Amino acid sequence: MSTEKHILHYETSAPKDKPAADDPLAFGTIFTDHMFVMDYTDGTGWHDPRIEPYKPFLLDPAAIVLHYGQTVFEGLKAYLNEDKEVVLFRPEENMKRLNRSNDRLCMPMFDEKFVLSALKELISLDKDWIPDREGTSLYVRPFIFATQPYLGVAPSKTYRLMIILSPVGPYYKEGVNPVKIAVESQYVRAAVGGTGSAKTAGNYAGAMKAQEVAEAEGYSQVLWLDAKEHRYIEEVGAMNVFFKINGEIITPSLNGSILEGITRKSVIELLIDWDIPITERKVSIDEIMEANRAGTLEEAFGTGTAAVISPIGELFYDGEKCEINHNEIGELSLKLYETITGIQTGKVEDPYNWVVPV
Ligand code: PMP
Repeated sequence: MSTEKHILHYETSAPKDKPAADDPLAFGTIFTDHMFVMDYTDGTGWHDPRIEPYKPFLLDPAAIVLHYGQTVFEGLKAYLNEDKEVVLFRPEENMKRLNRSNDRLCMPMFDEKFVLSALKELISLDKDWIPDREGTSLYVRPFIFATQPYLGVAPSKTYRLMIILSPVGPYYKEGVNPVKIAVESQYVRAAVGGTGSAKTAGNYAGAMKAQEVAEAEGYSQVLWLDAKEHRYIEEVGAMNVFFKINGEIITPSLNGSILEGITRKSVIELLIDWDIPITERKVSIDEIMEANRAGTLEEAFGTGTAAVISPIGELFYDGEKCEINHNEIGELSLKLYETITGIQTGKVEDPYNWVVPV
């Protein structure tokens, strides 16, 4: 664990040009002037926290991360609210999840309060990069990776933790649009006992093949089924998934192979607060297709930091197309979207203290 330390600042003498006001800010392509860096050495712990100019760095070709994927990451957003204050949405949850991912990957835990304070310090320094058009934000990417040059398969003795920032445009360009989803019956994302509940690179690398095939067939993402029986629903793309059947909301329970989304947690907490029945349990794809045939499947949507709420307009499974809510956004999906984005931007009151000033 790191002890509270002073963060050294090495500020850039050559600030980059910021994107123009009408730049579409394609996701993950533009980076701000600075980054946060901190190193770990066995025996010493986390040391040398610093903010430096954003730039490439040297890594030994034998670094464990490049060979065995010992690395974890997070994704969250900073927003300019209605009063032009910089705010974060439940960032302490991202810090907790990053440490849980660390634990799963045999990586050293860090002091969550300290890294959150470093994250805020970095955002404050680069706050002029936060776009303020509707729907835009500053995407924050903390990540940790194994740096020891060693070709043996074993946990590294040295690591680096970094935070980089990227201004991003609105997820939805023309209002919240339902997406077409292909149910994936061949490839799996994660298995119980594996690393699915950790935010680690290998889960994402392993998911690209199915995504590529689905896209080639005109679907925007895949619905993942469980690894053992290929029957129970896990997640949709890189989002958690919810269904509304006969007035009841159902989401797959956390079983060890599902990533515990912070948007998922927020949706569940809102539904409880609104007295809307919400159940976390196993959900089979057959149950969903059957509910659709019976006319009781009212809404389906994904949840995640990027889209917040992503309505599912169509599911394709085993040769059968299932259109949901006439391929339109459902009433509950819209209410959840407007409430969460409203809380994030300060348009809607935040009785839960989810929003944290930077
Ligand atoms: N599942 C996966 C696999 C993800 O990568 C993400 C994005 N972090 C989510 C679910 C949604 O999590 P969150 O709501 O915390 O963004």
